[in-house]
Amino acid sequence: MVGTAENFDAVVIGAGFSGMYMLKALRDKLGLKVRVYEAGETVGGTWYWNRYPGARCDSDSYIYCFTWDKQLLHDWEWSERYPEQPEILRYLEHVAERHDLKRDIQFNTRVTGAEFDEDKALWKVRTDTAEKATARYLIAAVGSLSDTNMPPFKGIEKFQGKWCHTSRFPHTGIDFTAKRVAVVGTGATAVQAIPEIAQQAKHLTVFQRTANYCVPARNGKVDPDLARARKADYDGVVKRIRESFFGFEYNFIPKSVLEATTEERDREFDRMWDAGGFAFWLANYQDMFFSQEANDLCADYIKRKIRKTVKDRVVAEKLVPKGHPYGTKRQPLDTNYYETFNKDNVLLVDASTDGPIEEITEKGIRAGGKQYEFDIIVFATGFDALTGPLKALNLTGRGGRKLEKAWAAGPRTYLGIAVAGFPNFFTITGPQSPSVLSNMPVSIEQHVEWIADCVDTMRRSGKTTIEATRQAEDQWVAHVNESVNTTLMPRANSWYMSANIAGKPRAFLPYLDPEGVGGYRKRCDEIAAKGYEGFALS
Ligand code: NAP
Repeated sequence: MVGTAENFDAVVIGAGFSGMYMLKALRDKLGLKVRVYEAGETVGGTWYWNRYPGARCDSDSYIYCFTWDKQLLHDWEWSERYPEQPEILRYLEHVAERHDLKRDIQFNTRVTGAEFDEDKALWKVRTDTAEKATARYLIAAVGSLSDTNMPPFKGIEKFQGKWCHTSRFPHTGIDFTAKRVAVVGTGATAVQAIPEIAQQAKHLTVFQRTANYCVPARNGKVDPDLARARKADYDGVVKRIRESFFGFEYNFIPKSVLEATTEERDREFDRMWDAGGFAFWLANYQDMFFSQEANDLCADYIKRKIRKTVKDRVVAEKLVPKGHPYGTKRQPLDTNYYETFNKDNVLLVDASTDGPIEEITEKGIRAGGKQYEFDIIVFATGFDALTGPLKALNLTGRGGRKLEKAWAAGPRTYLGIAVAGFPNFFTITGPQSPSVLSNMPVSIEQHVEWIADCVDTMRRSGKTTIEATRQAEDQWVAHVNESVNTTLMPRANSWYMSANIAGKPRAFLPYLDPEGVGGYRKRCDEIAAKGYEGFALS
């Protein structure tokens, strides 16, 4: 309805994994009238936008999916250990069709603002299509990594070639054949894209600001016997990932790496390295994230691997990470990443040794006083993580309070689900929740189910508003920071620490529960069981 506002029980913003399940839960379980707004032209969220070469999931496919549709868990066949972007998008399209979700999703529509009307206890939502809505509940399912970080490089407007950011890659793709290409960035995205682009391009130059610790993905076709065994045990799988530390079937090795003999350590490291995936990162010795001495032993193993793989000594040293402990930045999974730097058509330009990017010119990039010429520049420069997409919603809470002002010094939430002064507003995998430090669908499902239960309780008890108290929020913010300060995470200039973007106030963005996502789930459930302790209900 254009012009006038239609009233809904709930407005959900975003139609990725989280918005789709939120719609399903509120509409089909609780029977509510729900509208989802989605800026893209179809469902998928991150898997709709990120279409760069090599884009694929870093979690194993059998647990990177919805677990609430038991039949689908059994019916759907993933082709690879880590499915490619088009396959995940096909899966989400299938879910949308199977559950008839699209009829309540307004595509090509971006929410441009929302205000809480205190008299009516309703959210008034505005969009860029002039469509307006009111709703009792407003739920942000906007994704943690959806707000593109395009650094304001001097001279970008002068570049005569083609350029794009990986998260806004053209749907038609880019033909790199016979082209001189630059990739800026060496995070998880670039680590996937670089080997693919290097195969096509005439020449590829990689601009690295910080070297990363990459471990092998070891992707491949899914073994049918393994797939069958997992399907037969899906109830067990789901229970284990829900109660686990990171939402995977991984557990730490329950001892200090410093107590292991060299042989034992190398055997364990080799085992994790050979298994591929996040095992080396999330199932290593239990003190890896806490003790620098322990961490150094893990880091040294990867450094040896890099030096062994990369033939040119000088290039290898540029690729060896320096200055941050292993695992304190998001683990990139690699398929021929280090090997790619052995190719004759690939050049690495490292900010510390060759000089940083100074400007974009008509013909390419000037770095360290040297001009590099390109036909195409691909910026794999990441995201304004977690807070970016929420601040962009332009939300006004109680007393005219703006979310971006409330978060001027960093995010402030209660449980990473609610914000004081913003009644009936919930975030799915928002800041200060486990979110990006977990297998996302596990955390998404936990939040959606908790929020749906909360809305159900509110309606059954005749309450109209629920709002985090300032005191509960203060305590949560302190707890999030205390928890992370027991780890090595604050020692890295990572996007977890808000350090990837100049001027973003330094703050740890997700939440690392001392008992992992299983502990966080228990914590949230206990709070609900105590009548939503830390929330004011009216
Ligand atoms: P990212 O990890 O933030 O990496 C961005 C890269 O660009 C970094 O190397 C960064 O350097 C560099 N950079 C940023 N600003 C720069 C500047 N002004 N000048 C020069 N270099 C600059 O972003 P990403 O690789 O897109 O990954 C973001 C997250 O998306 C991942 O961590 C992961 O959670 C998610 N992701 C998931 C998957 C998956 O599951 N399939 C795949 C890809 C990404 P610094 O390191 O120095 O900041």
